[in-house]
Amino acid sequence: MAIVKNPLELMMDAYENGYAIGAFNVNNMEISQAILGAHAAKNAPLILQLSSGARKYANTKMLMDIIYSLADQYPQIPIIVHQDHGADLETCVSAIEAGFNSVMIDASHYDFAENVRITKEVVDFAHAKGVIVEAELGKLGGIEEHVSVDEKDARLTDPAEAVDFKAQTGCDTLACAIGTSHGAYKFQSDGKVDIPRVQKLTEVLPGVPLVMHGSSSVPQEYVKIVNKYGGDLAGARGVLEETIKEASKLGISKVNIDTDLRLVMTAMIRKVFIESPKEFDPRKYLGPARDEIQKMVEHKIDVLGSGGKIRG
Ligand SMILES: [Zn+2]
Repeated sequence: MAIVKNPLELMMDAYENGYAIGAFNVNNMEISQAILGAHAAKNAPLILQLSSGARKYANTKMLMDIIYSLADQYPQIPIIVHQDHGADLETCVSAIEAGFNSVMIDASHYDFAENVRITKEVVDFAHAKGVIVEAELGKLGGIEEHVSVDEKDARLTDPAEAVDFKAQTGCDTLACAIGTSHGAYKFQSDGKVDIPRVQKLTEVLPGVPLVMHGSSSVPQEYVKIVNKYGGDLAGARGVLEETIKEASKLGISKVNIDTDLRLVMTAMIRKVFIESPKEFDPRKYLGPARDEIQKMVEHKIDVLGSGGKIRG
């Protein structure tokens, strides 16, 4: 199966069966191996996503070669290779030329008309190549207590606008702003995600898988390890896993996870450095980090409900 020819089919299976596929960001070999290992262990379909930063850091071809190699090693896993936060048509075209079967065009910082125009351009190009397109409407960011209803409505995805946006652009999936934000410091207190808005969006956009960005849970066990071994991530906080679970049943079919991978990797490397100061073989700290990332990803698959969902 490997890199799938019909990525929309995979998304629709998740959408129709009330689970979400984890979209994990890859930057290097160890993280990629851990993600694939976890999905093989759990029999789960997978989205591997590459940000423009990752493509620049590691070289797109290098990352694709790692992905192709792992796809050969685990032919049973259906994989979508996705451009995360494509800034423009050029970025999406270069991703498609490199073999990605899914791209995100993020023109959400423009006004509605310009967002539609840029997204439509990408959709026309991508669909002609059999590639699916995720677009974004609304502005990601936490909803704190002091934010007024008007302010909240101005930032979060508006259901009526979403219907127009989908009709005008023909995008396949929609990243929506529901109160989450990127990074390790998502909330000042317990994270609030606008679940009724997810429900409403699914109601008005039947058949359109929704995407949750900024959905790392920032597991406190790893924050503690980082802080114990000389790091400083005081106050780091993510989305409750219960909330992610609930959203996955309501039409969120792709859940993006990057921060949690970074967090586990940093925690395990810090631990080795402090506990074994004489160690200087990179395999001795990257190896334990890889093992722990696999464990964390297996747990995420349980939260998302994607385990055992590989079809014949
Ligand atoms: Zn994002």
